[in-house]
Amino acid sequence: MTKLEAVRASAYTIPTDAPEGDGTFAWDSTTLVLVEVVGGGRTGTGWTYGSPACATVVTHDLAPRIEGHEVEDVVGCWNVMRAALRNIGRPGVAGMALSAVDCALWDLKARLLDMPLHRLLGAVHESVPVYGSGGFTTYDERQLTEQLSGWVDGQGIPRVKIKIGESSGTVEDRDRRRVAQAREIVGQSTELFVDANGGYTVGQAQRVASWLSAYDVKWFEEPVSSDDLAGLRTVRDQTTIDVTAGEYGYDLAYFQRLCPVVDCVQADVTRCGGITELLRIAALAEAHGLQLSGHCAPGLHLAPLTAIPNLRHLEWFHDHTRIESMLFEGLPTPSKGAATPPNAPGHGLTWLPDAAAKYRVS
Ligand SMILES: [Mg+2]
Repeated sequence: MTKLEAVRASAYTIPTDAPEGDGTFAWDSTTLVLVEVVGGGRTGTGWTYGSPACATVVTHDLAPRIEGHEVEDVVGCWNVMRAALRNIGRPGVAGMALSAVDCALWDLKARLLDMPLHRLLGAVHESVPVYGSGGFTTYDERQLTEQLSGWVDGQGIPRVKIKIGESSGTVEDRDRRRVAQAREIVGQSTELFVDANGGYTVGQAQRVASWLSAYDVKWFEEPVSSDDLAGLRTVRDQTTIDVTAGEYGYDLAYFQRLCPVVDCVQADVTRCGGITELLRIAALAEAHGLQLSGHCAPGLHLAPLTAIPNLRHLEWFHDHTRIESMLFEGLPTPSKGAATPPNAPGHGLTWLPDAAAKYRVS
């Protein structure tokens, strides 16, 4: 058994390559919070995309509780961390901190065993189908064309997603024009998905679903707020398009409430409680007859998603693939619409401190 010697956290804010926005939010930078765990002469890394405050929770609330614990006992560390968060509250910043540490511990355990993380977790898939995700509401037609054809024609990815619900659903005409443009750009043989980020009301989402069908859209993500479970159910019951949600799920209990009202469960390993909780969420989804789709953070999702029998796909999010290619070595390039985890110890990505230094904020 190996003693966990140190848990470190740091934060990096990286400007976007162009203004980005969706139905209910706009941003021009993204912050990655990195966790490094050290033991047995090796370092494991995990991360989340959130406030630099996540780093404070890691160093102040989590690290002192698990340093000295056995590295191999990842679930035991997870239990200690979950207990430590009781009075802080698990959803949000604390849940992201927990998730990043859990991912780092799994990575370290696999590196100590000198085996790829996907093998340690029991991979049942060799690769993970991906979909190109971006299509921000802030893009003009040229930007949308370049991005979508880059995925479909350039990288051979047969499924893409764009943002709709612009300005909280107040410019539905433009949403419809952009969906029509997207369908024209990618052609009929590419799957087209949309994400409203909770921008519509229930009645509006029902009307939008009816015109989305005319463009053969197969996936309607967060048509209404993911906190409105009754609203999600109402939209789902009225359309044959798959209604999906789950990216803001922070614990197993939320997913238990979510499963009965969606057609596919989304989960984010950097928010939901790390790899430890993601695998439980996948089992819960399977019990409801549902598949699971990974949300963003591609480099961290690849290994655990291969171990999920009821996997649908992984969101190959423009912002995060860009950052993980800049700050890590080893993020694979998709081939024939799927990405294969690196055949290297741990998750196979190597942090590049020199590349990240100029973006460091804490
Ligand atoms: Mg989304």
